[in-house]
Amino acid sequence: MEHFTKVTPGTQVSLQDHDPRFRDGLRKNDDVVRERREAALEEMRVLQERLYAEGRQSLLIVLQATDTGGKDGTIKHVMRGLNPSGVCVTGFKQPTAKELGHDFLWRVHKRTPERGMIAVFNRSHYEDVLVVRVRKLAPKRIWERRYEHINAFEELLTECDTRILKFFLHISKDEQKERLQRRIDDPARHWKFDEGDLYDRRHWDNYVEAYEEMLTRCSTGVAPWYIIPADRKWFRNLIVAEIVTAALREMDPQYPEPHFDPKEMTIP
Ligand code: ADP
Repeated sequence: MEHFTKVTPGTQVSLQDHDPRFRDGLRKNDDVVRERREAALEEMRVLQERLYAEGRQSLLIVLQATDTGGKDGTIKHVMRGLNPSGVCVTGFKQPTAKELGHDFLWRVHKRTPERGMIAVFNRSHYEDVLVVRVRKLAPKRIWERRYEHINAFEELLTECDTRILKFFLHISKDEQKERLQRRIDDPARHWKFDEGDLYDRRHWDNYVEAYEEMLTRCSTGVAPWYIIPADRKWFRNLIVAEIVTAALREMDPQYPEPHFDPKEMTIP
């Protein structure tokens, strides 16, 4: 599956080449979908335990999407089997005055995972080349330089044993309309509705341009972007779970050697 979704470094991304409704011939209620998902989640659980015990490497998962793209749902479904002590989820909102008093990576760097941990970013430093660009919160000469800063920052993290996975949850404009409508119609979803989302929807094409540049310029060998077909939530969850699990498998965390000889130990 990876090869459908991983952005090869150096390729010019055009989102219209990526079908948000893609489902790889699978159907929601297929047994194979449930089996693959549960197998991935179970393996993820085992590997996380070892990652935590090993305390040598860490994993950073970055989620970006347009409003209603499914960042929260992905976290809820994909991370559900993990030990919460080993996971740290951070949502990046509008920067505070204090945060704006620093460089744009300051608040982000503080939330990167320490050894043994998995950190999940719900939005991230990429907002600084997305919303900032589209809403003109900073001039081009400022955000234009950030792609390079981001690549260097992610390279630094990788050198310090942090594996980085970046997921762009790709939904269609029609699907977003339905999801926004649901937030208006369903009282239990009213809290999720934000009029600012309508502004962003009106600037859909500007966002597409900003996403494409982000995906093109910041998919690197050490920190690839994955474009996840996300109109179908079940498919999105399956693919993200499998990619995260495959990355953990590759990291191959090991239980540390015991610092005592089990044969010599007796409990008094
Ligand atoms: P979410 O939509 O992720 O569930 P919110 O409704 O609180 O969470 O939205 C967070 C808002 O903060 C979004 O509109 C996002 O674009 C904005 N935001 C995040 N990072 C930045 C940033 N660096 N500069 C400006 N706005 C940002």
